[in-house]
This record gives sequence, C-alpha cells and structure tokens, in this order.
Amino acid sequence: MTLHAPYDSDNIFAKILRGEMPCVKVFEDDNILSFMDVFPQSEGHTLVIPKAPSRNLLETNAKDIGRLFGSVQRIAKAVETALKPDGIIITQFNGAPAGQTVFHTHVHIIPRYESKALGAHGGTGEMADMGMLQELATKISAEL
Ligand code: 5GP
Repeated sequence: MTLHAPYDSDNIFAKILRGEMPCVKVFEDDNILSFMDVFPQSEGHTLVIPKAPSRNLLETNAKDIGRLFGSVQRIAKAVETALKPDGIIITQFNGAPAGQTVFHTHVHIIPRYESKALGAHGGTGEMADMGMLQELATKISAEL
C-alpha cells in the first residue's frame, strides 16, 4: 500500500459517511464527522474525519485540513471538559508503513490517564462495548 494510490470508496469510514455502517457519533457538520473509535486505545478515544474523500493528509486540500484541525481542537477541548484526562494525544498516520490502517484521512484524539496504560494502535485491541461508547459520546457532545 503506497502513500499515493486511488481513493477506495469501500473503506470503512467512507461506508460510515454514507450511512452504510453504524458509528457512535460525537459531532457532525457540513465538513467533518466525529465518532468514537471502536477499538479504543483509551477511554474516550475519538476520531475526526473530513467528509471530502482523501486517503491521507498529504492528499487533503489545505482548506479541508484547516477545518479538520479546527474541529479537532474543539472536540479535544470537549473531551478534556467531559472526561478530565491527564493529557491528550493527537495522532494522524499517513500510509501503512506509518501505521495507517483505514485509508480515509482521520485524526485520533486519545485521552491519557496517568494511572492507565495506553492500548495498542490500529484496531488490534478489544472492541469496546457500544453502550459504554454511547455514554462517552453523549458526555463529549454535551460539551460542544
Ligand atoms: P489508523 O490505524 O488508520 O490510524 O486508524 C484507524 C482507526 O479506526 C483505528 O484506531 C481503529 O481502531 C478504528 N476503526 C477500525 N474499524 C473501525 C470501525 O468500524 N468503526 C470505528 N468507529 N472505528 C474503527
């Protein structure tokens, strides 16, 4: 999988955007969708994706990047207020060798808690309980 390849509209996030796959939504506007990661690396692991199709940040137009990161900051602040983590990691992977596993541009907001170890990246951990994810999403979106 190279950095530059055609966008595959059957990727899981494209299906979520089209409503063909469910997600636990945190926030949506005309440009971005934010939802809970189903294999969270920590409690409250949230994803933010641009609605416009692109495989990675290198292929995303600058205007969409601006909107995306504006929303990332806003949602990260809501995560902080809602969940009171000790820190927040913001990550974004480009290309399979860099750790990317879903090829629609996305940003991770990963709360860190001093007393809890960070889970593995890339969907290798345990699938979260959907009720628990919904509770977290409701708390975060209440702060937006
Ligand atoms: P990447 O590895 O590409 O940076 O991140 C992809 C993320 O998507 C991973 O953290 C993984 O847990 C998450 N993920 C994979 N499949 C699904 C899914 O079907 N729904 C949701 N909400 N997240 C997913």
